[in-house]
Amino acid sequence: MVVQPKVRGFICTTSHPEGCRANVERQIAYVKAQPKTEGAKKVLVIGASAGYGLASRISCAYSSGAATLGVIFDKPATGNRTATSGWYHTAAFEEFAHRDGLYAKTINGDAFSQAVKQQVIETIRRDLGKVDLVVYSLAAPRRTTDDGKTYSSVLKTTGQSYTNKTIDLRSNQVAEVTIDPATEQELADTVKVMGGEDWKDWISALKQADVLADQAVTVAYSYIGPELTHPMYLNGSIGQAKRHLHATAKEITQEFPGVTGYISVNKALVTQSSAAIPIVPLYISILYRVMKEHQCHEGCIQQMYRLFHDKLSGDTPQVDEEGLIRMDDWEMREDIQQEVSVLWKEISTENVEQVADIKGYWEDFYQIFGFSVPGVDYEQDVNVDVSIPSLAE
Ligand code: NAD
Repeated sequence: MVVQPKVRGFICTTSHPEGCRANVERQIAYVKAQPKTEGAKKVLVIGASAGYGLASRISCAYSSGAATLGVIFDKPATGNRTATSGWYHTAAFEEFAHRDGLYAKTINGDAFSQAVKQQVIETIRRDLGKVDLVVYSLAAPRRTTDDGKTYSSVLKTTGQSYTNKTIDLRSNQVAEVTIDPATEQELADTVKVMGGEDWKDWISALKQADVLADQAVTVAYSYIGPELTHPMYLNGSIGQAKRHLHATAKEITQEFPGVTGYISVNKALVTQSSAAIPIVPLYISILYRVMKEHQCHEGCIQQMYRLFHDKLSGDTPQVDEEGLIRMDDWEMREDIQQEVSVLWKEISTENVEQVADIKGYWEDFYQIFGFSVPGVDYEQDVNVDVSIPSLAE
């Protein structure tokens, strides 16, 4: 069938198989063109089908020659519905990895569940023995625990409401938005979903099953951002969850001998998750413009290659005074933030196209779902019923 994008708010309900395949191919080509990395050889990536997790998987496989086991939560095509983009990305990644002689398998299921943890442990035991790197890159709106209870995360402030500019992604209108504070229950639930509890459960299960190599490393992803997003992000409900995640990294290092937990604070980028946060997409589109002008803009793959090649390789990973790996080092440069804050004050519906890189924002947004990818003919009929090789075995 011919697949066109169907955008509903900040989500696209269709995905293009060829475009997603081309996304993966481009990321692989980028990594192949960079110097190789002396890095982990057996890697588990939890949340491997999109954004930073997919880029981590590609970077480890193609820069260090790592065998990768990915955990995803995606849907195949049914009837005239396309699969999710994460499904197509994973199918393409496995196809390329197998062609290139790299081990790549995938478990499709809810990473929060014990059942998926057990499935992963059995696969590691059978195929890999042990893993030396665990990447935790989940971004989830809710979590169902094994007792059947579901917790939802919210994107709200804490303490008091906050009003600032945002962009309505349906109309490109810049308007003010007021974000209300989360209740105590909402805060606790957001921490339950996006904090470190499940990350620690994973490391505990892997350690108990003796499938972590000696001196194994685990890394989870976080965000800090500039002051203008602090009430919404760092000091908001999601920020509380991230603080919990940061504390968990330390707990993992202390409580599991032979395992070191790290937090990598990544750059703000357009992904399915960040598109849902008020204020942040407008900030991202201004940031894109400024960073592109300064020629220091990076996408997920550039960030993740730099993480594993420059910051996390060798015996002493590069961390700041709080022990955090700062992949947002270029985003947070004083000159970049200074320009962003000047443009933030100026931006309005009338000048949004000139002041911000709205085109770049939308290009990234469509590409997440395999659209607007150069070289793909979107008028052509495509087979949407694509299988993920290791799941078809
Ligand atoms: P994303 O939406 O692109 O990817 C999230 C991944 O998690 C997807 O592969 C999704 O399928 C998977 N996932 C979600 N729920 C799952 C479940 N229950 N079981 C298995 N897999 C599941 O998001 P992203 O932006 O790449 O976010 C990844 C991490 O990076 C998050 O912790 C996020 O906070 C962090 N981060 C993002 C940004 C940004 O600007 N996008 C910046 C800094 C840090």
